[in-house]
Amino acid sequence: MPNLSFVSPTRNSPWGTYLSQIDAVEPYLGNLARWVETLRRPKRALIVDIPIEMDNGSIGHFEGYRVQHSLTRGPGKGGVRYHPDVTLEEVMALSAWMTIKNAAVNLPYGGAKGGIRVEPKMLSNKELEKLTRRYTSEIGIIIGPQQDIPAPDVNTNGQIMAWMMDTYSMNVGATATGVVTGKPIPLGGSLGRVAATGRGVFVVGREAMRRLNINMEGARVAVQGFGNVGSIAAKLFAANGAKIVAVQDHTGTIQNEHGVDMQDLLDHVAKRGGVEGFKGADAIANENFWDVKTDVLIPAALEGQVNEERARRIHTRLILEGANGPTTPDGEAVLADRGIVVVPDVIANAGGVTVSYFEWVQDFSSFFWTEDEINLRLDKILIGAFKGIWETSEQHKIPLRTAAFTVACTRVLQAREERGLYP
Ligand code: GLU
Repeated sequence: MPNLSFVSPTRNSPWGTYLSQIDAVEPYLGNLARWVETLRRPKRALIVDIPIEMDNGSIGHFEGYRVQHSLTRGPGKGGVRYHPDVTLEEVMALSAWMTIKNAAVNLPYGGAKGGIRVEPKMLSNKELEKLTRRYTSEIGIIIGPQQDIPAPDVNTNGQIMAWMMDTYSMNVGATATGVVTGKPIPLGGSLGRVAATGRGVFVVGREAMRRLNINMEGARVAVQGFGNVGSIAAKLFAANGAKIVAVQDHTGTIQNEHGVDMQDLLDHVAKRGGVEGFKGADAIANENFWDVKTDVLIPAALEGQVNEERARRIHTRLILEGANGPTTPDGEAVLADRGIVVVPDVIANAGGVTVSYFEWVQDFSSFFWTEDEINLRLDKILIGAFKGIWETSEQHKIPLRTAAFTVACTRVLQAREERGLYP
């Protein structure tokens, strides 16, 4: 581990996971390996205190972060997460994965991420708005349409982006739509953005299935996480003939050998807030999710889910990482031994940030595209990026993750070398 004094990662923690991914790519970087240490250090990390007056009159304090891992290829770009487990170390890893993701699909961005350690379900709408506005003001010194552009991530959405855009705009004295993406459509949001991450998981998954000769019709698919990413991916897989045989979310786990009826499940989740209690499937113990026999497994929740022990039990052919960092290094080693193909997060879930890029371009050109144009361009970028990564993986006989990192890190470090060091 390099000597960053402000974090103590372990081998399977998020930053430890990222560092081991950088170790794996280093031998494939040729002369650019001279610059690789730059990827092991975030460029800049901001920790902020967010005090707000709670509805009961007390003063709540929350810790927030914005980490800009790299600004080498363009402004920072990446979401903001509200979750009780958010730490600086996690946000560092998530920001670094954004650097890799943006470069893997060749978007003109560096990588950044933000977060607040908070359980948003415990806040009223008013408290959530205050929290968001004060956080935006505090990180206002480093974000901006040409500096760093936040977006939604776990537990954040269009409403939160609207508050962020408004707060930043009030502070600078002009409406700045391009400061965040994932905004509601009337504020300069893009058609297709909400569904883009899930759509990308499906599009990239379909390409991987073709390469592996897995038939879409009747394919057995399990999804962990039924939020914006997992639910839309599952819906698209089901609409294209696959069977969703198991779903897990924060409320529980359900299984149906014949495939869950997606519309019924979506209606249930809209009403009840989770999959628990769904009549069209059997409830199973959460840990048994990892024993369900599948062709395609989609972890679309949080980091560190596919650990060594679960990787031994998983019975699947293909893992599509809808979440960021769901597989630990120890889990990954077991999957490689067992011949299970992993399409890494940095390509599998890159659809969201790709349409964020379209949103940002539409905002500064003030010219808006149709949903068909957006989806066509999204599919083209993802399919092209996946093809390049697959071919790199075959050429060097390396896993898809190391191939994606090879493509991405080569782009970042080439830019680093050409820019040179200032002063
Ligand atoms: N939070 C999403 C991700 O992890 C989207 C980021 C963005 O649109 O900037 O890729």
